[in-house]
Amino acid sequence: MKAVVVGGGLAGCAAALELLKAGHEVTLLEARPTLGGAVQTLPEREGDPRPPPDNGQHIALGCFTEYLGFLRDIDQAGSLRRSRLSLPVIDELGRTAVIRPSALSILRYSHLFPTHRLRVLRTLLRLRRVDPRSCDEETFCAFLMLRLGESEPAIRSFWDVFIRPALNLPCDKASAALGVMTVQTALLSGRRRASDLLLPTAPLGDMHGVAAGHKLESLGARVKTNTRVVQLIPGAAVLADGDRVVGDAFVVAVPPLESARLLDEPDPELGKSPIVSVHLWFDRELLPFPLAALLNSDAHWIFDRGRLTGHRPERGQYLTVVSSGVPELMDVRGRELVELMRDELTGRLGDARLLWSRVSREPAATFEGRPGTAARRRGPRTSRFNVVRAGAWTDTGWPATMESAVRSGRTAARMLSDVATKLAA
Ligand SMILES: Cc1cc2nc3c(=O)[nH]c(=O)nc-3n(C[C@H](O)[C@H](O)[C@H](O)COP(=O)(O)OP(=O)(O)OC[C@H]3O[C@@H](n4cnc5c(N)ncnc54)[C@H](O)[C@@H]3O)c2cc1C
Repeated sequence: MKAVVVGGGLAGCAAALELLKAGHEVTLLEARPTLGGAVQTLPEREGDPRPPPDNGQHIALGCFTEYLGFLRDIDQAGSLRRSRLSLPVIDELGRTAVIRPSALSILRYSHLFPTHRLRVLRTLLRLRRVDPRSCDEETFCAFLMLRLGESEPAIRSFWDVFIRPALNLPCDKASAALGVMTVQTALLSGRRRASDLLLPTAPLGDMHGVAAGHKLESLGARVKTNTRVVQLIPGAAVLADGDRVVGDAFVVAVPPLESARLLDEPDPELGKSPIVSVHLWFDRELLPFPLAALLNSDAHWIFDRGRLTGHRPERGQYLTVVSSGVPELMDVRGRELVELMRDELTGRLGDARLLWSRVSREPAATFEGRPGTAARRRGPRTSRFNVVRAGAWTDTGWPATMESAVRSGRTAARMLSDVATKLAA
């Protein structure tokens, strides 16, 4: 079968790889100059520290089994640093308490009063028995407070700390279905090390798009970047320059609105949630941990990029500050954003002088996983028998993560392979 994959993000790359493994001929068409989609390294500028900043820090968890399989397939399993979940959380007075996946650590979590810590443990026990599909119509915050009796301080100082980066929305906006699914899969599955943190040690672009491109070509795929598909007609993808790429079957692995356009469908109206990343190089070390969360701040998470990538600068510290799901920050000018984040850090961690900075904004980093989203996420099957759909936004049950992207791509490819088998019979 001649398969054409439209979109070279993780979903498209994973689909292409799966189709090659099944023995099909594959052409991958990507509109941008590089593969990798939402997982990118910024174009290098003079004066950047090593390695140049990524478009945003990406975190994987031990439960991202298909994503980890994909990295193994493209020979990049060694580009992640794996550690047990340990999240230092720093409050306004610079005091630190650490979240680890154990009852004892929660009982010692000093950003909450002891009664609230006990309630968090009770909530975790109760969450084990919830069916995520039963609660997509309410927010995770409402679900925790009204149904499980959780406290407001615990939402702010415990649940939001990891729900916000996982869903790219705070608990009071995110769908309870996605919140429950995330907690169950990462923390309550009983699978050893499902909650492990996996952080990239290589530039995102190299370890995803570049590595995937090499692997796909080495297996015989035709990879065409700078190639936008403007229409899908029976038997061919029509390109922006009018050329046609013919195929027996197609995977459409592009963001929701573009997918709807290419497939002549209504917009699934999944919304978009932004991520703003501010990269800061200070003249002295401020953060004593590889990563940390800040309570009650728009600087939600800080990562020591120098340490995590094994490239500490010759002096000072190279940090990435991430702000998830705050649309208001998209309108703040670069210089002001840098000053805002610098002040958030120095206010809690001590004085330091800024040597360099860079801002990266992704207005549509993920879809907006609000209540009611589940019914609007479409599955891989389309109205055309030889066209399937993929993308982190499709109906995988996962939030818009790298795991969701890879899962969707692999599922879509397997479905196309089944079509090929039926056609051949
Ligand atoms: C800053 C940031 C931080 C993130 N942090 C995390 C994290 O910590 N953990 C995590 O798991 N996930 C994270 N994510 C989300 C994750 O990166 C995405 O969910 C995932 O990579 C999406 O993959 P995809 O293949 O579904 O879509 P995309 O990556 O959007 O890929 C779609 C591709 O299709 C191409 N395309 C579009 N239209 C056309 C067309 N007409 N013709 C040809 N090509 C087309 C696009 O150029 C793009 O390359 C983050 C995302 C961002 C932006």
